[in-house]
Amino acid sequence: MRRACAAVFCFVTLAPAVSPPRLPVHYRELPLGAVKPAGWLERQLRIQAGGLSGHLDEFWPDVGPDSGWLGGSGESWERGPYFLDGLVPLAYLLDDPRLIAKARQRVDWILDHQRPDGSIGPPKNLDWWPNMVALKALTQYQEATGDTRVVPVLERYFHNQLAALDERPLQKWAVHRWADEVVTVLWLYERTGDGKLLELARKLHQQGFDWKGHFAEFAFHRKVSKAQANLDTHVVNNAMALKASAVWWLVSRDPSDRDAVYRQLREMDRWHLLPNGVHSGDEHYAGSDPSQGTELCAVVEAMFSLEQMIAILGDPAFGDRLEKIAYNALPGTFTADMWAHQYDQQPNQVLCNVYPRAWTTNNPDSNVYGLEPNFGCCTSNFHQGWPKLVSHLWMGTLDGGLAVAAWAPSRVIAQVGGGVSVVIDEQTDYPFRDTVRLVVKAAKPVRFPLELRIPSWAESAQVQVNGTAQSGVVPGGFCRLDREWKAGDAVTVRLPMKVRSSIWYHNSAALERGPLVFSLRIGEDWRKLKSRTPAEAADWEVYPTTPWNYAILPDTAQATEKNVGDHPFSLQGAPVEVTVKGRRLPQWTMVDGSAGPLPVSPVISKEPLETLTLIPYGSAKLRITAWPVLEP
Ligand SMILES: [Zn+2]
Repeated sequence: MRRACAAVFCFVTLAPAVSPPRLPVHYRELPLGAVKPAGWLERQLRIQAGGLSGHLDEFWPDVGPDSGWLGGSGESWERGPYFLDGLVPLAYLLDDPRLIAKARQRVDWILDHQRPDGSIGPPKNLDWWPNMVALKALTQYQEATGDTRVVPVLERYFHNQLAALDERPLQKWAVHRWADEVVTVLWLYERTGDGKLLELARKLHQQGFDWKGHFAEFAFHRKVSKAQANLDTHVVNNAMALKASAVWWLVSRDPSDRDAVYRQLREMDRWHLLPNGVHSGDEHYAGSDPSQGTELCAVVEAMFSLEQMIAILGDPAFGDRLEKIAYNALPGTFTADMWAHQYDQQPNQVLCNVYPRAWTTNNPDSNVYGLEPNFGCCTSNFHQGWPKLVSHLWMGTLDGGLAVAAWAPSRVIAQVGGGVSVVIDEQTDYPFRDTVRLVVKAAKPVRFPLELRIPSWAESAQVQVNGTAQSGVVPGGFCRLDREWKAGDAVTVRLPMKVRSSIWYHNSAALERGPLVFSLRIGEDWRKLKSRTPAEAADWEVYPTTPWNYAILPDTAQATEKNVGDHPFSLQGAPVEVTVKGRRLPQWTMVDGSAGPLPVSPVISKEPLETLTLIPYGSAKLRITAWPVLEP
């Protein structure tokens, strides 16, 4: 049970307590509330709360008072649960009474309206899929509040489902998204040890789509055609499925399921990875051309998958991937105030307007910034992105310690070393700066391991404890500090951020620094497409006011650090700039509203040499990210 308290030394009791996990997880997820955001990340969550997340229900009917998930006659499928799945962590991480009241109203309705047979949600919904999302929201709420109603409601729901699945099997979306329910089933199994839950997990797997088989003989090596597009090739299903074999391995304990996690990533990376860290899908497999897009739902779902994968398998490479998506693709697809979002974002995005682009299946408005471009799933589902990142920055080791899975300003409050309370403040402007300071506040001296993820790009990383350099600091691994800690101990971590160049589609180059990817700063002309009440919820097209068709000399890139202000993910507020030499490439022009076919590098240009300014991908709402490379 969590106690409400504002003081520094107020501790969350980890639930479940310190007993060993029943499943072979590598790390234990900390309960919602054990990790709190700080610094720029806390400001980012407040921006989110002041934007669409904190107001959507006030004017968007699908999650408003008439929602079926509040007992109304309105939308009764996935949108209510999607909204709640992000609202719960956002509300409790900020301790925001207004948002907590909104979340509580929705949670209370679900908990108080379970039917005698155990089913939940709007009675007219007979699809298992939206319930899967609601269950995820309930587990987070239980962790934050200790509300004793949650576990019995889940037990009744799952027992009913186990009995009902033979007659009413998974259908449509639920078939491809079975792993998301297994996450919740196993959450409950850890708490109750009820063997029926493993039986349910097996049944969900058996009725679910065979992702392992899909990637064992992966047949989609380029953008799919409209005729090929189906639920197997759908980008959101695939982002959710990144974790499927890892989650299933917890039940099967079959090594080939662990291997399947990596096989799946290899295939998806080889054929569909984009330089912003996500796989393409607009909204089906779209290849690696940087003018193709990725749906926002797939961004936040890939993040949640990676958060689960780190906990299950403990592979630091998943932390590298998580940071790349969280610090690039996630902020890049929102306006700085988080009132408007895109359905599809492009790494090379030179014009956002209503135009029939080369999407596999999406509509012409898919890359405008607005309330519900293309379709309203992302409008209700994006809210989980930042808050769940916060929850998963830190994890518990199975021997009573703590691990940093992803770096960001935060505070973790937990019990370590068999029951001693500790607070660790993570002071940093990472990913905009390369140094992190961890300050330990323990009620008494206590021995516990602290595991620090060293990103694979962090050559010459250094870790010091109270000024003394530590050994075992290897990029792509965890640095483990197993010692007695006392109040005031400080760990300084330096993760040197050299600008580096990576190779992409048609031998193009992307410039990266730490987890950040950099994009050309293009002048933006924002034109209102549609007004709404409230005025902040307008839709916008964005037109370029400066040229974008450059080729670069990647070796000339240099970084300059700027102030980390209130809106780091804005054109004006970019906290880091990279300059690079380049020349215009007149033959590279706009085609069908996008940067036209990317010239194959190396390329030659006789245009004058210019110094170009790049800013973080997330700060640039128009951008070039994958560049033709000039012949030296
Ligand atoms: Zn969506």
